[in-house]
Amino acid sequence: MVVLAMAVSPLVAQTRVELSDNDYTPAEDVELGREAAAEVEQQLPLLRDDEVTAYLRGVGRHLVGGIPDRLEHPGFQYSFTVVNVRDLNAFALPGGPTYINRGMIEAARTEGELAGVMAHEISHVALRHGTAQASRATPFALGALAGAVAGALIGGDVGSIVSQGTQFGLGTWFLSFSREFEREADILGAQIMARTGYDPREAAGMFETLERANGGGGLEFLSSHPDPGNRSERIIEEARLLGVQDGTTDTAAFRRIKARLADMPEAPTTAQVTEN
Ligand SMILES: [Zn+2]
Repeated sequence: MVVLAMAVSPLVAQTRVELSDNDYTPAEDVELGREAAAEVEQQLPLLRDDEVTAYLRGVGRHLVGGIPDRLEHPGFQYSFTVVNVRDLNAFALPGGPTYINRGMIEAARTEGELAGVMAHEISHVALRHGTAQASRATPFALGALAGAVAGALIGGDVGSIVSQGTQFGLGTWFLSFSREFEREADILGAQIMARTGYDPREAAGMFETLERANGGGGLEFLSSHPDPGNRSERIIEEARLLGVQDGTTDTAAFRRIKARLADMPEAPTTAQVTEN
């Protein structure tokens, strides 16, 4: 009896995250993401290494399997691409294209920390936060939205280049996710980690790693994904509600990928690749 109660209670206790109001259709998310991804891939150098790519895709596909059924949308295709720059950043476009900077993989101490950032990004996509946030802003035609949404999700110099690169060039009218959406992505991310066998507390570890790296401020990731307040504490609390005792932290595959990256020539900064 006791064992049964312990096995059932986490499902009852986890926080339920709902979709927000959204003026756009899931098909429009897909279209926006596709247009923005084409622009991103023109502007940023991708890491073309089969082993690193296969590893990242494997972790990504595994995490996508943890998205609750009710948050699956027709046409969404999650893809995972390594950008060969050393800044600590990651971003996901509506409909699923997800980009992880090489610097983020290098900064992660464990596979669980890397999975924490990826689960957070996947959660923004599944919750359709890019278009939900756009729905709260001035309405623009879909074409105009593509650049602006992508620019805002990516942030900083690359974000403004991408938003100018689309035909409307409106720039960004929102610069970061709301605290409410950050909280939701943190919580759903923790749930996805737990469902796929990771320890969600690793996500809290990654955010702490990012905060440390942000010492003097200016880290793109944290300006696009602001701390909604007590971020680590809330993630650890969700892990407790989920009844997580342990889970995957580090793996041999992750250590191999880190060693492989360390053997490559150092990646440039985003500023270097977006000059002139
Ligand atoms: Zn976020």
